[in-house]
Amino acid sequence: MAAAAVEGATVSALRSVLQRVYKAADRCGRPYDGVRVVAVGKTKPVSLIRQLYDAGHRCFGENYVQEILDKAPQLPPDIEWHFIGHLQSNKAKSLIAIVPNLDMVEGVDNEKIANHLDRAVASMGRKPLKVLVQVNTSGEASKSGVDPTDCLELAKHVKLGCPNLRFSGLMTIGMPDYSSTPENFRTLSNCRNEVCKALGMAEEQCELSMGMSSDFEQAIEMGSTNVRIGSTIFGPREYPKRAQG
Ligand SMILES: *Cc1c(COP(=O)(O)O)cnc(C)c1O
Repeated sequence: MAAAAVEGATVSALRSVLQRVYKAADRCGRPYDGVRVVAVGKTKPVSLIRQLYDAGHRCFGENYVQEILDKAPQLPPDIEWHFIGHLQSNKAKSLIAIVPNLDMVEGVDNEKIANHLDRAVASMGRKPLKVLVQVNTSGEASKSGVDPTDCLELAKHVKLGCPNLRFSGLMTIGMPDYSSTPENFRTLSNCRNEVCKALGMAEEQCELSMGMSSDFEQAIEMGSTNVRIGSTIFGPREYPKRAQG
């Protein structure tokens, strides 16, 4: 009974997040379907993800390779999985092989990982994989992502040098407490201007993935097309307790 109550709470948390997303989009005159909500289920059981799926949600994100490799095969094949955050290049192959319904990698931050993904997609013969270039907009050494000044070069490499990848935009993580300041979002938006201009792309072809649990409304107002929301939907993360004794 306790478990059922928790699962019901997850579905209603998703509904309330979707309402807030629609309202934020509406406030700035954007279409309600112009913002994708990635439900980030890291550390959460497959049963909770399944509840959201049964309620109609299709886009889910994971941040640890081992978790997505475990979960994806247990869940329906029409889920659109996003791998979010830094990916090690030696994990690219298993990610592509084991998650055929991987829709996007949000977090390509160097040429080596782009090349590994490109080759893995080619070897599996699947359709091109959408990727976002991760930009470190806060300047913190602990964060992955390219420096904003190197963003164009990596975007160009993905777009022109990786035929099995589809360069789809830019992604950033905010400040350490997840309360990103508008400057971080402004920086990402400026990167998009530069990339679109240099690569001859329309802005609508270049997504901005920014905004997490505590700042997604602000991010939408600053142009986000993709928000990644974990704890506001699923509750606080549950890391395994260290073994006693
Ligand atoms: C965990 C995670 C999120 C979701 O974080 P919340 O603050 O719980 O919404 C978003 N993006 C990345 C890259 C993450 O690792």
